[in-house]
Amino acid sequence: MGESQGTAEKFQFKAEVKQLLDILVHSLYTSREIFLRELVSNASDALDKLRFESTKGAEIANKELPSEIRITLDEKENKLIIADTGIGMSKEELINNIGTIAKSGTSEFLKKIAQNKDQATNLIGKFGVGFYSVFMVAKEVVIKTKSYQKDVPAIEWKSDGTGDYEIREIGDDVKRGTTIEIFLKEDSKEFAEKYRVESTIKKHSNFVSFPIFVGDERINTIAAIWREPKSAIKKEQYNEFYKFLSYDQEDPMDVIHKSVDAPIQFSSLMFIPKKADEFFWMDRENYGLDLYVKRVLIQHKNKELLPEYLSFVKGVVDSEDIPLNISRETLQENAVFSKIASNVTSQILSYLKDKAEKNPEEYVEFWNSHGKIFKLGYGDFTNHEKFSELLRFNSSECKDEKELTSLSQYVSRMKDEQKEIYYLSGNSRDAVLMDPHLEIFKSKGLEVLFMYDPADEFVVNSLRKYKDFDLKSVDTVDMKELEKIKDVEDAKEEKKEELSKDDENTFKALRSKIKDILGDRVTEVRESIRLKSSPSCIVAADDAMSAQMQKILKMTNQSMGMGSQKKIFEVNKDHKLIRNMLKVYKANNDDQYIADVVEQLYESALLLEGSLEDPHNLVNRINKSLEASSDWYTSINKID
Ligand code: ADP
Ligand code: MG
Repeated sequence: MGESQGTAEKFQFKAEVKQLLDILVHSLYTSREIFLRELVSNASDALDKLRFESTKGAEIANKELPSEIRITLDEKENKLIIADTGIGMSKEELINNIGTIAKSGTSEFLKKIAQNKDQATNLIGKFGVGFYSVFMVAKEVVIKTKSYQKDVPAIEWKSDGTGDYEIREIGDDVKRGTTIEIFLKEDSKEFAEKYRVESTIKKHSNFVSFPIFVGDERINTIAAIWREPKSAIKKEQYNEFYKFLSYDQEDPMDVIHKSVDAPIQFSSLMFIPKKADEFFWMDRENYGLDLYVKRVLIQHKNKELLPEYLSFVKGVVDSEDIPLNISRETLQENAVFSKIASNVTSQILSYLKDKAEKNPEEYVEFWNSHGKIFKLGYGDFTNHEKFSELLRFNSSECKDEKELTSLSQYVSRMKDEQKEIYYLSGNSRDAVLMDPHLEIFKSKGLEVLFMYDPADEFVVNSLRKYKDFDLKSVDTVDMKELEKIKDVEDAKEEKKEELSKDDENTFKALRSKIKDILGDRVTEVRESIRLKSSPSCIVAADDAMSAQMQKILKMTNQSMGMGSQKKIFEVNKDHKLIRNMLKVYKANNDDQYIADVVEQLYESALLLEGSLEDPHNLVNRINKSLEASSDWYTSINKID
């Protein structure tokens, strides 16, 4: 062969590749066999891509070659060769695909594997930097590759995985596809042994949809298990297939295996992992179900089959009714395909509903792992009803922050007079339990849902209702309606002494004084019905946006017109501080002390709802007041 044609050019690996190689070569000694899984998976991807180009009608070099993966072993030379007849690579593609990591989140990924070496080999496959794992076993790697495009020259790539690699053009007689020659390190000789390689392929690559040969023998023989009847498949087979699909080390939490005959015919085999994928938020586009037509893989991770909020689901869908030669572009317009997609979503939601009813404890585990993503389903209007049944929240009726309630459980506990479902947002259970807005709900014995995740606010805003009941933030609830509901017994006891007629009138005057002090910052100062143990709070005008929602919109820069959100300042006339203010006001209705206290109460309320912009004034006032109270403290305790 005319292999020595082009002259070699030297290239440096990019910094992050060097870092990764360093970790792989110097600190990973377990599960080195996964390099085979990674190279086979790349070969299989390359064959998939070729198939895709060919259905698009592209001209393909060496059309006669069968789609397959061949592994050749040489025990004498400590050498392993893995060859595919896939899409191949041009020189530019080689440089871009192998030698750089262009993915976002690479530095986080590198940190993660450096810290977590036990998991590293799985993270490598999940994050998609599998090729480099070959350097765990190789002292030298030679790639020969020829693109499917006819006039693109074949290329050789050579490296020992330390700092650089060499590239040169090779002869015209090289056929389409990629051959990777691996010269094994002394301590990795086992990977030139037939038995070792075959068992590794069986373990990790059994479900690859192209034939894998070791020598002349085909190793992977597994049929499409999703086409088999459920009863014919053992749990271990499901688990094995799941691990192949997902790179997860653990068994799945759930298996959903369905075969639909009418109105369209398709099979689906889906899995819910036990834990959320830690790369999901970094790599949000990377999900989907594998789409097969008549057992032939059409597309890996097809996203149109799965809405984003179900993106934690892994699996395959196989249809008889989609044409085999369909292109990915026209897939979405295919009516059968759309029907399958909506059917798949229904299957998953029905499965979850069933699980929630029959096995609530396990459902909680599901919620804890995947709830954060699942919640995003508030945008799926066609499935609102099913979706709302599957939501879970912590609430004032739960014994601790771990316990969860569904909306239907909430409704079953509602009081006869209660017409709305109440919720309150905050950072934690401790924070919402101390929120002044909660006080009246406690005294009326009304349950309040607690929302700690900003996404919850979008969920309730999008649902608006559950059954016949509006979902209402506690700071926008109509107090007149609440007042109609009786207090629970133990709340009544702490009733304060009533104000005299005169004092009632002075209190009114004090309220308008407070309004003068606060000016345009509030629309109204009113006597509070809701407060029991706090002196004051801010509430939104009825039907306004909740404070939490305003905060979120502000954070996301969507605060258009937010300045005009009405605020009402409420004062608790039974609170000791307010009673003392009344005394001060009676003695001198222009006392500066009143203004100081009002400013302090107002800013404290803003602080609690998270909308105080500058804390300096508040802190200064507190310091002054502490200074004053220190005089009082030393004098009553006779300290000199
Ligand atoms: P990933 O497979 O997740 O993209 P890898 O590190 O395994 O990450 O591979 C990097 C890239 O190198 C692949 O995306 C592909 O473009 C290219 N590549 C690797 N092996 C092959 C092959 N056998 N044939 C064609 N391209 C390949
Ligand atoms: Mg790969």
